Amino acid sequence: MISKFFGNVFSGRIFKGRQPRIVPYSEHGIARERISPCALSVTQTLQEHNYTAFVVGGAVRDLILGWEPKDFDVATSATPEQVRQLFRRSRIIGRRFRIVHVMCGRETVEVSTYRGSALASEENEQQIADEHGRLLRDNVFGTQEQDAIRRDFTLNALFYDPSTQQVWDYHNGFEDLKKKRLRMIGDPEQRYREDPVRMLRAVRLSASRGLDIDQPTRAPIKSLTALLANVPAARLFDEMLKLLLSGHAYECVMALRQEGLHHGLLPMLDVILDQPMGERFVMLALRNTDARIKNEKSVSPSFLFASLLWHEVLAAWKKLEGEGIPPIPALYQAMDQIVQSQAEKLAIPRRYGSDMKEIWVMQPRFHQRSGRRPFRLVENPRFRAGYDFLLLRCASGEVDPAIGEWWTRFQHVDEGERKALLTQEAEPATRKRRRRRRRPGAEPAKQAEPS
Ligand code: ATP
Ligand code: MG
Repeated sequence: MISKFFGNVFSGRIFKGRQPRIVPYSEHGIARERISPCALSVTQTLQEHNYTAFVVGGAVRDLILGWEPKDFDVATSATPEQVRQLFRRSRIIGRRFRIVHVMCGRETVEVSTYRGSALASEENEQQIADEHGRLLRDNVFGTQEQDAIRRDFTLNALFYDPSTQQVWDYHNGFEDLKKKRLRMIGDPEQRYREDPVRMLRAVRLSASRGLDIDQPTRAPIKSLTALLANVPAARLFDEMLKLLLSGHAYECVMALRQEGLHHGLLPMLDVILDQPMGERFVMLALRNTDARIKNEKSVSPSFLFASLLWHEVLAAWKKLEGEGIPPIPALYQAMDQIVQSQAEKLAIPRRYGSDMKEIWVMQPRFHQRSGRRPFRLVENPRFRAGYDFLLLRCASGEVDPAIGEWWTRFQHVDEGERKALLTQEAEPATRKRRRRRRRPGAEPAKQAEPS
């Protein structure tokens, strides 16, 4: 079945006779023990059935860079149905391009059949690219060398065979990796036109892995940024989420701005970068997220989005109050407006809305530090998120750091001491004195402590 597809592709000029450079273990130093047990067993089983199978993509790149891979992808000559037959716990997923998820214990390995490029095949009767050159389909099977060609960057196109511990390299990706150079396979402008998301990937990979974007790969980006507008919103969202949760969100967002990729194209990024008031807040939120990921703490996308949009909410809230609406109803209306407008633009899917609102709506309650209210707030199941959010507001200069410190103390002491704190709080003279002492050269409050 596969050979039928191969016939087409060998006619393409670029595919003739390209041989991979075989990088031996002595050069790359990746032992098969570094491959996850699931990926190892998948490649081994496929090879036992006379298919070729390699670990591919980000995992090989990250292992050579000395990073722990997030997940393992396998590329094989077997079709999805053939893969499916070999693994009991597996399922075929994807509509546009079908891949197989193979499960072992809690691990899932993504197995894809080598793909060719639809442009290079002879299926030209069907429309395969839009008027800007964006590929609408790339779902033909191909050979391993074609599979390498359709990948984005040279260092993402390395194939590792655990049985021989060899890396197969068709595009000098190994050398680029050693030189920390991010280089597009093929003609960069054409590749960005085929899939504008590659511009975001270039920025994310270079910023998160400390790679330099090769000049010819970087050069076309500035003039092509508008193409991102043609990419389906859900796909952009996925890519943005990857970027924001990469552990290097701060560097990535700075780099996006530097490449001019933030403007007018991604509603969510506009929000992040075009609010001078909120910029400090957003940057702190990004650093805070990065720190949590570095420390292997959980991060919730809703918390992050709540941070990214907070100053939008504040602005809308103030406006509604100015129109005579009482504070709390005005806050609710403002939240609805902002969540609604993000969902309309598909910048942030609706499913995150209620978690974001929970965090926001808690904020005015942190300013009430008398009576029973603080006791109730501490018991709120979402208190921790609300409190972390408050600390960001303190650190950004929006809220008096003393309030954050008060809540830090309040949650950690026993009932009796809590009551004492309340009493102090109710006494205005103390509050004034404390504030005066803190003001000159006051340090911003500590960032949210990872829990
Ligand atoms: P990470 O998973 O760390 O974000 P990755 O490079 O593994 O990075 P994936 O989205 O998992 O990214 O993709 C796996 C591989 O598929 C990539 O290494 C690359 O070879 C290929 N790939 C992914 N997206 C594209 C794209 N837009 N164009 C061409 N090839 C791509
Ligand atoms: Mg990956």
